Amino acid sequence: MDTTSATENPATGLFREYLRIRTVHPEPDYDGAIEFLVRVAEDIGLESRKIKLSSGLTILILSWWGTKPQLKSVVLNSHIDVVPVFEEFWTYPPFAAHKDESGNIYARGTQDMKCVTIQYLEALRRLKSEGRRLPRTVHLTLVPDEEIGGHKGMELFVKYPEFRNLNPGITLDEGLASPTEVFSVFYGEKCPWWITVHCRGDPGHGSRFIENSAATKLHLVISKFLEFREKEKKRLESNPNLTLGDVTTVNLTRASGGVSCNVVPSEMSATFDLRVPPTVNLKEFESQLESWCRDAGSQVTWEYHQKCMDQVVTTPDDSNPWWKAFSNPCKELGLKLKPEIFPAATDSRYVRAAGYPAFGFSPMNHTPILLHDHDEYLNEEVFLQGIHIYTRIISSLASVPPLDGEQ
Ligand code: ZN
Repeated sequence: MDTTSATENPATGLFREYLRIRTVHPEPDYDGAIEFLVRVAEDIGLESRKIKLSSGLTILILSWWGTKPQLKSVVLNSHIDVVPVFEEFWTYPPFAAHKDESGNIYARGTQDMKCVTIQYLEALRRLKSEGRRLPRTVHLTLVPDEEIGGHKGMELFVKYPEFRNLNPGITLDEGLASPTEVFSVFYGEKCPWWITVHCRGDPGHGSRFIENSAATKLHLVISKFLEFREKEKKRLESNPNLTLGDVTTVNLTRASGGVSCNVVPSEMSATFDLRVPPTVNLKEFESQLESWCRDAGSQVTWEYHQKCMDQVVTTPDDSNPWWKAFSNPCKELGLKLKPEIFPAATDSRYVRAAGYPAFGFSPMNHTPILLHDHDEYLNEEVFLQGIHIYTRIISSLASVPPLDGEQ
């Protein structure tokens, strides 16, 4: 039974309406989503404008001007797109936003990250309806294509004068759900490194002991990478203070080579997906990887498909006035925060790399991490609580007194 009723909280109704817009790759309905968001913005009384990027995609900016618009602003970023679904594994249709009897709302994007978009909007609606005026301007940036790397979205947008002109002081972006009562706040991200190692060797008949084969070298390479994987996995499992963001993950994601069952091939290759925390010295790490390849023998070469070298983090302690303004209202609400390194990648990496501080936060505790998974859901209570939390956080961030260099 779907428990929609006339008495449903309008914020929940809006959330479910947004979930029904199919902004799913490979053909996200960005126009439909932008039309919806502009309508909501008008209803709340936010100014809206669209920036067309050179990629052909559009960024939507919704603004609530502060009483001191010359001060740096609070930027609330969220992506509009969602990842594809395997509908046959879902209990309810993934774009129906079904709400069950316990208030769980099922849809692609409930956690990642349509919840946050609506929470930002509803928090602003609340502050405005209370007649509040805050010193700093608050901008919502609604961006496309995060789920396929952000290359046609945020990565471009941070280089535009229109982004610089937002004069961002602090940017909030997505985080992750947390199964416990603790809320994770992400202050940095791991660097993705994707490497393919090509091994060449002597070919021959499959009936003989061929020396110097590509397979022998590939075996050595794979062993080295996977030994390191085990070491990092043990390090994570043996220390309860560490999270996935603190260790380097390694996965063998592709292996190829060979032409026939009875021919020893002259070439084989393996591809690895590594995610390196910002605490690792990347230069040393690079020479370590490359020595594993060299040690496997001659005719071993490698290429990087992705080798992020950017390790900027946003300080998560009270020496940072933005952290203080973010964490104080959370303390007052009795929320437990845990600053962490994000185990994967979000659009925040482009914001930080452009020199602006950013925190990743999705206020969903007591919630299993189901982003990109089947049956992604969020409980209505947790969703509504998130609006309350953002109301306090946004009001605190937009009230940070002028900082050094501001007046
Ligand atoms: Zn996301």
